[in-house]
Amino acid sequence: MNEFGGTTGLILEEPLLTEKGKKGRMGMSLPRRDIERAPMDETLKGEGPRLPDLSEVEVVRHYTRLSTWNFGVDTGLYPLGSCTMKYNPKTNERQAALTGFAGAHPLLPEKLSQGALKIMYELERFLAEITGMDSVSLQPSAGAHGEFAGMLVFHAYHKSKGSNRTKIIVPDTAHGTNPASAALCGFSPVNVKSNERGVLSPEAIAAVMDEQTAGIMVTNPNTLGFFEENIKEIAEIVHARGGLVYADGANMNAVMGIVSMGDIGIDVLHLNLHKTFSTPHGGGGPGAGPVCVKRHLERFLPVPRVVEQGGRYRLSYDFPHSIGKLHAFYGNVGIMIRAYSYILSLGPELKRVSQLAVLNANYVKEKLKDTLHLPYDRPCMHECVFSDKLQAPLKVTTLDMVKRLIDYGFHPPTIYFPLVVHGAIMIEPTETESREEIDRFIRAFKEVVKEAGEDPERLHKAPHSTKVRRLDETAAARNPRLTCF
Ligand SMILES: *Cc1c(COP(=O)(O)O)cnc(C)c1O
Repeated sequence: MNEFGGTTGLILEEPLLTEKGKKGRMGMSLPRRDIERAPMDETLKGEGPRLPDLSEVEVVRHYTRLSTWNFGVDTGLYPLGSCTMKYNPKTNERQAALTGFAGAHPLLPEKLSQGALKIMYELERFLAEITGMDSVSLQPSAGAHGEFAGMLVFHAYHKSKGSNRTKIIVPDTAHGTNPASAALCGFSPVNVKSNERGVLSPEAIAAVMDEQTAGIMVTNPNTLGFFEENIKEIAEIVHARGGLVYADGANMNAVMGIVSMGDIGIDVLHLNLHKTFSTPHGGGGPGAGPVCVKRHLERFLPVPRVVEQGGRYRLSYDFPHSIGKLHAFYGNVGIMIRAYSYILSLGPELKRVSQLAVLNANYVKEKLKDTLHLPYDRPCMHECVFSDKLQAPLKVTTLDMVKRLIDYGFHPPTIYFPLVVHGAIMIEPTETESREEIDRFIRAFKEVVKEAGEDPERLHKAPHSTKVRRLDETAAARNPRLTCF
C-alpha cells in the first residue's frame, strides 16, 4: 500500500449551488395551508433575491463535498510555521458550546452573566501567571489587534510623561504585523538586523535607541524560531533611555512554564489564544489576542475591565487613563472559554506542552538538515527554518517542493517567511503530533527532495492528485473572479 496516499481518494465534482436545484424545490416539507390567503403588504413587494430552490439533501451534499476539498488540522499534519496549527482537544469545543455560554446574549444584565464574567476574570489571572505579567485585557480579537492595543498603551504612557516619542525599534526577525501595528499608531518603525546567530545583539539596539524612540517590539521566540537570548540586556538598554519593551508572545507555546516574560524586562505582551490556547484558526474565524502589561501600565488597559467585589463580577469603565474600548461587548467570549478549559484541563502540564513543541521541532530540524539547507544550525524553539539553497541548482524552488508535499498528504509548511532567509521553509510540527506522524512527514520530504534530483518537471507541475492543480497565484490575486450570479 502507498504510505502517502493521503489525498487521492474520492474527489467528487460539484457545480455551484446556482447551477443546481429546480423551481419549487424546498429544504423541508410544510403542511398544507389551512387559512385564507392574505394579500401581501405592497411595500414589501419587489424582485426579491434570485436564490436557487434546493432540497435539503442537495445543500448538505454540496457543503460536505466542498469540505472534502479542504485540509485542516482534523485531516492531518499541518506544519505551518508561526501559525501553530496544532490539534485542539474537542472537550474545549464542547465547553464553549454549552448552551449557557453559546446562548448568552451580550446584552444580558450582569447579574445573569456571572458565569461568563467569572471565567473572564479567572482567565485573566491564569494568563498573568503563565506570562509573569501583572494585568491582562482579553478584549483584542487577534494577535495584530493585541499589538495595536500594546502600541496605544506605549503612546498613552509616553504622553502621560509629557513626551512625544515617534519611533519604534523593530528587528528583521519580528512578525510582519509588528511594524504595521506600530505604524498604525503613528510610530515610525526603525529596522534592526539580527546577528549571525539569528538573534538581536545588545550593541545593535544601543546604537539606535534614543530619546525619540518609544521602545522596541521583539517577537520572542522570533520568526527564525530562536529565543532572543539577550532580551534582558536589551530591555535594560531600552529602559535606561526611557523606552518600553513589547514582546510579541504569539508563540508562547514554546516557553510556557519556562520563561516568565515579566521577569526578563517585558512591559507589554500579547498572546494568541487561537494559537497556543486551543482555538483552531486559519479559516478566518474569530480569535483573541489578550494584551498583558506590568503593573505600571495597568491603568492604560482597554475598558471595560472585569472587576470582582465580594464574589460578584461586573464590567467597569471607571479607568480614566484607559486607551478606550477596542471591541464590541466583552470580546470573543467563545475563544476565552476554550482557553480557560484548555488551561484548567492541563494545569502544570502546560509546561510539557512547550517542552514537546520544542522537542518535535528540533527532531524535524535534525532529521532534515542533511536534506535541506539549514541556515542557522543551532537548537531551535517551536519551529525550524530551512531554505531551498541546495535544490536551487536543479531549478527546484521552495514552492515546487511544498506543492509536491500535498501529493503525499501533508499541508505545506510556511514558505518565503521569514524574509531574512531566502527561499525559507518554516516548519512547526507542534506538540500534538506523534513520533510516527512526524517520521512520515520527514520521509515524505526526503522523497520530494529525491524527486527534485530525478524528475524536476514533476515538481514544477505539482500537486498532481488534488482537485485543483497548481494555480497561477499572481493572476488569481490580480484578476479575481468575484461574480456568483
Ligand atoms: C500569528 C502571529 C501574529 C498575528 O496574529 P493574528 O491573530 O493573525 O493577528 C503576530 N505575531 C506572531 C509572531 C504570530 O505568529
